[in-house]
Amino acid sequence: MQLLKKWSIVLSGVIVILAIYFSVFFYCLTPKVALVPLGEVDSSYLFLVENTLEEYYRVKVEVMPTTPLPDYAYYPPRKRYRADKILSEYSLQHFWSHHKVMAITEKDISVTKGGFTDYGILGYAQIRGRASVISTFRCGRKVSERKKKERIAKNALHELGHAFGLQHCDGNTTCFMNDAKGKMSTIDKESMELCEDCRWQIEDIVRGNR
Ligand SMILES: [Zn+2]
Ligand SMILES: [Zn+2]
Repeated sequence: MQLLKKWSIVLSGVIVILAIYFSVFFYCLTPKVALVPLGEVDSSYLFLVENTLEEYYRVKVEVMPTTPLPDYAYYPPRKRYRADKILSEYSLQHFWSHHKVMAITEKDISVTKGGFTDYGILGYAQIRGRASVISTFRCGRKVSERKKKERIAKNALHELGHAFGLQHCDGNTTCFMNDAKGKMSTIDKESMELCEDCRWQIEDIVRGNR
């Protein structure tokens, strides 16, 4: 009887150790994303992006403390912040314990694009880059808060898709990796889903098969 009791204690110990081991193992396998508010960002937007990315990509998102917008990224003629400068900062210097970094701001952001020196954008990321940046600024013009949040969520899904390695899904108007080319009407037509082809690609990338 005494021996049986001893063995059951040993067995319980082994089960607990294995449970901890596998929890840590799967936690380490889950890609981690640092979500960095640049300047004041409404907490409901942070919560929305955190939940959207976690549910869709099955990543772990950690909301970081608010950081001031970098002065060197400010573009006075248009009162905007340069997305490429923000990106270089977060690609190289911060949050090395996370696989990806997404900065989020309520300020307008821009890049040089086509013939435009300073072109306002919703978000910016490099394909397979570490960092991405999204802005809520253009999502809420003349629309309800519900619509604004829907656009912010799609914007975050799209930019993290790039950071994970997805290209634009040209011609597929319902896939959120479709290139909206800055048009809100195009974004509104997109769903909160990837098309089948993009879904296969992201499964492979996020789970480390390529
Ligand atoms: Zn894009
Ligand atoms: Zn697609």
